[in-house]
Amino acid sequence: MNVLISGASVAGPVLAYWLRRAGYRVTVVERTASLRTGDGGQAVDVLGPAVEVIERMGLLDAVERERTKTDVMTLHRPGKRPVTIHAAQLLAGISDRHVEIMRGDLAAILHEATREEVEYRFGTTIAAMTDTGPAVDVTFDDGTRESYDLVVGADGLHSGVRRLAFGDESRYRHFLGGYLAVFTVPDLLGLGGAVHAYNAVDRAVAVYPTRRPDRARVVIMIRSERELVYDYRDGGEQRRLLRSLTADLGWEVPRLLEHLDAAEDFYFDSISQIRLDSWSRGRIALVGDAGYGPGPAVGGGTSIALVGGYVLASELAAAGGDHRVALPAYQRAMAEPVAHSRRIGPAVMATLIPRSTTQLWAMAQAIRLLPRLPRPVQRRLTSFGGGPAAMLEGVQLRPAPAVSN
Ligand SMILES: Cc1cc2nc3c(=O)[nH]c(=O)nc-3n(C[C@H](O)[C@H](O)[C@H](O)COP(=O)(O)OP(=O)(O)OC[C@H]3O[C@@H](n4cnc5c(N)ncnc54)[C@H](O)[C@@H]3O)c2cc1C
Repeated sequence: MNVLISGASVAGPVLAYWLRRAGYRVTVVERTASLRTGDGGQAVDVLGPAVEVIERMGLLDAVERERTKTDVMTLHRPGKRPVTIHAAQLLAGISDRHVEIMRGDLAAILHEATREEVEYRFGTTIAAMTDTGPAVDVTFDDGTRESYDLVVGADGLHSGVRRLAFGDESRYRHFLGGYLAVFTVPDLLGLGGAVHAYNAVDRAVAVYPTRRPDRARVVIMIRSERELVYDYRDGGEQRRLLRSLTADLGWEVPRLLEHLDAAEDFYFDSISQIRLDSWSRGRIALVGDAGYGPGPAVGGGTSIALVGGYVLASELAAAGGDHRVALPAYQRAMAEPVAHSRRIGPAVMATLIPRSTTQLWAMAQAIRLLPRLPRPVQRRLTSFGGGPAAMLEGVQLRPAPAVSN
């Protein structure tokens, strides 16, 4: 079987790995000219069964080696004394199995594990495709054409495969009431291994260490009841918008924003989730954020992408490559975790960005109190109501597909 995957980040390479192992011929096309490792991207979470998927790939040691090494978090607030907590205490309840790693580092490990047996074409996208029944005829953006038995979109929140096969994104994107900006600056705060956060009403800022000791990553989240109108291709307009939305913030924010124009990796997007009733149509399927992204920064997206890639590959292998059997089975297996992940986004948004000065105060008190509480209570309070880890609790992974050439 000849499979085309669009997107070489998390879901795409995991799917490629397991399909290749089951004997499929796999090609991955990726829009960017090379692997987007950069400084490492944003920190993401590998939780529960997603750790199991990584372990079955023999990559757990490599992933553990690259885990983020944040030791303390200090929360700053307007006019109040900062409070500091150990990261381990803050993350105690997330999951028994949890690795935090930069998305780019995870993508690099997954690419390294697949690049010899999978054909990667960087700087390439799918321009058009037609499901003819017996195959999918694909035209790439360089004008070349090829036919595949299956095409999978692993191309993220703004998936091109989804647009071509399922229609415009506006039909599936559900706004969760916020915006997210991420950019890299010089390490103005001398972070060491620390994260500094600054919370104000309707805004939350965090400054993280990066792999390079002289650089820091700034994440700004803004609550907004309504969707803002801006050109998503115009970085200049987005920078102006971000400045106007944060103009009244104190602490180090004005100094951090001085470096906004120089940041080459500036990212600005709404915090939205993708809601489709079905993740496949004929011989075309979606995996990860493209099919069921719970929303950036609300947690769980990476783990559900890892598990989704594995489940799709194992259902295809179990069905002997019959997509009419495998794709509905993939849908059934992912239905509960996806439904759960859709509930998490709005719940996490309610606490991630403080809504009032009372909530700001309560957050600081919780951080102050947490280290003094017994471990089971610490775990319960930091599980974020079951949050992203609970989403994958019921997932039963099939045994790894048998090796075939
Ligand atoms: C700022 C931010 C913070 C986040 N924080 C967290 C967190 O704390 N915890 C967590 O678990 N998750 C977090 N996430 C979400 C997480 O990054 C995603 O859920 C995860 O990366 C999904 O993997 P994916 O492979 O499905 O898609 P993506 O990682 O989005 O990868 C899609 C790939 O497809 C490529 N692509 C896009 N369009 C095309 C096209 N037309 N043709 C070919 N290739 C294309 C892209 O370049 C990219 O390489 C965050 C995301 C962001 C943006």
